[in-house]
Amino acid sequence: MSLRIGVIGTGMIGQDHIRRITHVLPNCEVTAVTDVDRARAESAAAMTPNAAVYDAAAPLIAADNVDAVLIASWGPAHEEAILPALDAGKPIFCEKPLATTQDACLRIIDAEVATGRRLIQVGFMRRYDAAYKALKATVDSGEIGAPLLFHSVHRNASVPKGLYTSDMAVSDTMVHDIDVSRWLLDDEVARVRVTAAKPNSLGEDLRDPIFAVMEMRGGALATVEVSVNIGYGYDIRGEISAEKGAASLGESNPILVKTSEKFSGRVPADWRERFIAAYDAEIAEWVIAASKGGATGPSAWDGYAITAVSDAALKAANTGEAADVTLVDRPALYGN
Ligand code: NAP
Repeated sequence: MSLRIGVIGTGMIGQDHIRRITHVLPNCEVTAVTDVDRARAESAAAMTPNAAVYDAAAPLIAADNVDAVLIASWGPAHEEAILPALDAGKPIFCEKPLATTQDACLRIIDAEVATGRRLIQVGFMRRYDAAYKALKATVDSGEIGAPLLFHSVHRNASVPKGLYTSDMAVSDTMVHDIDVSRWLLDDEVARVRVTAAKPNSLGEDLRDPIFAVMEMRGGALATVEVSVNIGYGYDIRGEISAEKGAASLGESNPILVKTSEKFSGRVPADWRERFIAAYDAEIAEWVIAASKGGATGPSAWDGYAITAVSDAALKAANTGEAADVTLVDRPALYGN
């Protein structure tokens, strides 16, 4: 049977998920959409054969022909959609961030714990990327020994001028590196420092590039370079240095071209190109779990912990001092 999905928020990524649910993935369909901009919701509904347009999230969540809810509105609106969906017992895919404040994340966690089962998957899609999965499998196999350092590099060709702020380098961009650092090192962040290099004169007046050092509770370190105006493309790099060896993400382009005494390969233009297969895989996994009435993958706990690290990193960036990350006790629902 096909999972009937209601989509809340039909902007850029909401429409992309509607496309993949409609044209790429099996056993799912979009049956309802809503957006604060009714015209945008109507044009999104036209992308798929059976979607009704709703004026608000509440009636969409309550609708009989909606089995599960995909939330792709802007971050501050996530909580107001998640809580009623949890109340209705409907599985949820929520684009990152889970919510924009730690208090909101904790309200969501309390509500999910009260249901007694996992219902939320958060959209940290790098965990579904083939290269990251291979890196994680290598670390978990013990082949390179205990991990000591993870170096993450996040480079964007450019960011929207006038819309992208210095804080977004942490709260919008580095959050993905925070996610994979916790996941690959299987640990929580205890403390974070953020420093900025001399600004890239080709970008706007931004704190760019930045360099973060995260101390994990177990003593390993994760470093992150975020450069958002690097011009040459979207380049995501990662290397684990461990007690007996090292492992790194390979180049993402499948071929090298050699000509005129040079070799070259493609660098993805942006995150859509780099992670398109990961987005397909994350929604495919969500559809399977949601069809069974549950959720797997990045959890509400991950969403909360990442927001806590992001808040600390912003404090560190703005004060120049190291900032501690304090988390509440992890509920049993989310494992150890
Ligand atoms: P976007 O293009 O601005 O789309 C968001 C849409 O949601 C807009 O149409 C917005 O309408 C609408 N909206 C806002 N509040 C709403 C509400 N209460 N109910 C229904 N619709 C509402 O933004 P986007 O780039 O698609 O991003 C959406 C979310 O996905 C963000 O949380 C973002 O961080 C996340 N995202 C994740 C990734 C990833 O790599 N995982 C990539 C991109 C985006 P208005 O424009 O009229 O406010």
